[in-house]
This record gives sequence, C-alpha cells and structure tokens, in this order.
Amino acid sequence: MTRTADIIRQTEEVAARNYAPLPVVIARAEGVWAWDVEGRRYLDCVSAYSSLNQGHRHPKIVDALVAQANRLTLTSRAFHNDRMGTFLARLCGLCEMDMALPMNTGAEAVETAIKLARLWGYRSKGVRDDAAEIIVCRNNFHGRTTTLIGFSSEPQYRDGFGPYSAGFRLVDFGNAAELAAAITPNTVAFLVEPIQAEAGVRVPPGGYLTEARRVCSANEVLLIFDEIQTGLGRTGKPFAYQHETDAKPDVLIVGKALGGGVYPVSAVASSEELLGLFRPGDHGSTFGGNPLAAAVGEAAIAVIEDEALPARAAELGAYLRAALGKLRSPVIREVRGRGLLLGIEIEPEAGTARTYCSRLAERGVLTKDTHVQVMRLTPPLTIEKREIDWLVEQLAAVFS
Ligand code: PLP
Repeated sequence: MTRTADIIRQTEEVAARNYAPLPVVIARAEGVWAWDVEGRRYLDCVSAYSSLNQGHRHPKIVDALVAQANRLTLTSRAFHNDRMGTFLARLCGLCEMDMALPMNTGAEAVETAIKLARLWGYRSKGVRDDAAEIIVCRNNFHGRTTTLIGFSSEPQYRDGFGPYSAGFRLVDFGNAAELAAAITPNTVAFLVEPIQAEAGVRVPPGGYLTEARRVCSANEVLLIFDEIQTGLGRTGKPFAYQHETDAKPDVLIVGKALGGGVYPVSAVASSEELLGLFRPGDHGSTFGGNPLAAAVGEAAIAVIEDEALPARAAELGAYLRAALGKLRSPVIREVRGRGLLLGIEIEPEAGTARTYCSRLAERGVLTKDTHVQVMRLTPPLTIEKREIDWLVEQLAAVFS
C-alpha cells in the first residue's frame, strides 16, 4: 500500500466524512506549490478557497506568527492585549471603515453581522422586537452554522438540520428590482456576496451593487457585503464591490486571507454609528482578536498592500483568462469571474468538473469543483506568469 492510501484509510476511520477530498495527501507547501507525501509537486489552484491569497507560508506572515508565538498568544478579551489595536487600525484603513469586531471564522463573522443588523434595527431604526427581517440571495453561501444554512437555497446544506431561524427572505441574485420589492418596514439589512463564489463563480450584472446600494439607502436598510472569499485582493481590487461606483456597504465582512493562510482570522468592519451599538456582554468570542491572530492579520494585510496583490490579481487574472479563451475547447462552456477568482463551466455532455479536477491532479494541478459543472481556479495571487503558462498547458491537455 502506498503512503497516500495508508494515510487516507487511517484518516477515514476516525474522521467524520463530511468532505469528499481528492485522493491527494499534502505534506508541505511553499508559495504556489504543494507537495504530497509521495514527493509529487502540485500547483495549488484552490488556495484553501481563497484563504491563501499571499501564497503558502509567506515568510513575513510566518515570521509574524512565530515572533508572536514566542511572546504572547492568548489573553481572552477579559484583558487588553498590545496587538489587537494596531491590527484593527490597519484593517479599518484597508476597509475604509471606523471600527471592526474581530472573530475567527467566516461563519462567525457573518453571524456577528446579522446580530449587528438586528441590533441596529431595534435600537436605531425602531423595528418592533423580534420582527427584524434580513434579505439574502438565492444560491448564497455564508457558512455552515444553523442560522446560516437555514437561509441557504441549497437542499443538501439544509436537509436534516432544521428547524431553521426565522427572519430571512430570499431574492434572486443580480435582481435589484426584486430586492426593492422584498423590502418591508421590518427589513434591517440586505446581506450579499458581491460575486457568488461557492455557487459557481456567479458575477452579477454590471451596476447591480450600485443599484443595491441605492435601494438600501432609499429604504433605510443596511447593505452588508460578505467579502470573505472575494475580498483582500482576490478579484483585482482590495474588495470586489470596488469594481462598481458608489457601492460602499454599511458593513463589510472579511475572513479567509485575513489569516494569511496560517491562522483563522475574520472580522466585521463598519461605522462607529453601527458597531458602537454593541455594549459589553452583547457579543464575544474567546479567541476573537487574540494577539496571535492580530499579529498574523496585520502581517497578512501588510503583504497584500506591500506586494500590491490586488493589482497583480487584476493583471494575472486577465492574462489567465485570455489564455483560457484561446484554448477554444469544446469541453468549456464558459469562463467567468474577476481577477484571479475564475470559474470554468464544463459542458454537461463532457462530464462533471470533478472528472477534470481528478485529471488535473494527476498532472500536478490542484483545483476544486463546485456545483457539479464548475471548476474553480483560484491560485495564490503571488503566482508568476510562467506558472500560469504551465497551468494553461495542463488545462489544455485535459480539455483537449
Ligand atoms: N462567506 C463566504 C462568502 C464564504 O465563501 C465562506 C467560506 O467559504 C464563508 C462565508 C464561511 O467561512 P468559514 O468557512 O470560515 O466559516
């Protein structure tokens, strides 16, 4: 038995089977490359769902992690620590917001934004107790907590996990008229991903985010962008909403690459008017804002800014897209996305995306299927042109 088979067998005996990973066992990684236990090398085009925008083990992020680990790792919020303030100042600078509330995972940050919107609805907008409604989009993905899956439109995410939380309404993604029509006096927020990544890299029609901003402002409804996957440079701007004009949200949710690929770090950024509504005891997290997370988060942002990763994503995304266009493969129905958040939709007659992901893995490229027909391509934003050229050769081989 190979080492790979041995490890997979042992793992599957003891690990709940809530994932179906490709049979590759990664043991080491650096930059855009990962190596499996057999010593085979792979180009990582998943980047842990856009958590590795800065590449694997970026030296500045690892240095920050190690230095902080040798000094102070955890205090809880029962005390102040000397790292959280400078981290959040840097984050607020990037987000162009006044304040932020640090959490750990994406789902926790979305839950935090939901609590914030409801709190604002009751305290500021004057919505009757327990009547607040939040509008969300069909095909959304905001995480896996019981509240979040309750307003998913994906049967597998929900089935078997009810009862679901009340207070959410679904509208079509990309349809601002339906959003406007769904607003009631009890609506406190519209929560949306600027690009629906998990749903298969669905980019809304141009002007949608601007129009959503206008509709929300006209109706005293908060606009909340979940940029956990699209943010921090991935789409070619610091945040995906910046591709449109006048679309700045009231609340911005970030995660994934905020932890630089080494630690879970997420946050909700907003105005003082909104985040100032939280009083001590209203919300919390043992680990949120811990000094290790803060040191890593600050370094993760520094790398994004210092290495101009958003501009890199724009340039290299255009380069990769142009190369994919030239493949003219009958297997490819469509290539869509922005920057280095790309989805390749496979023609159903040509098989599922997973078939092609498996073939690419055999050729040393890690990709991930989403929603049966779409293959996601999200390499680290530090990828070089020659690595993209090599990637395109591998894609050409499996799509020919
Ligand atoms: N929101 C979006 C847009 C995401 O893509 C994800 C994860 O894929 C989440 C929320 C949930 O993040 P986490 O898995 O860290 O809870």
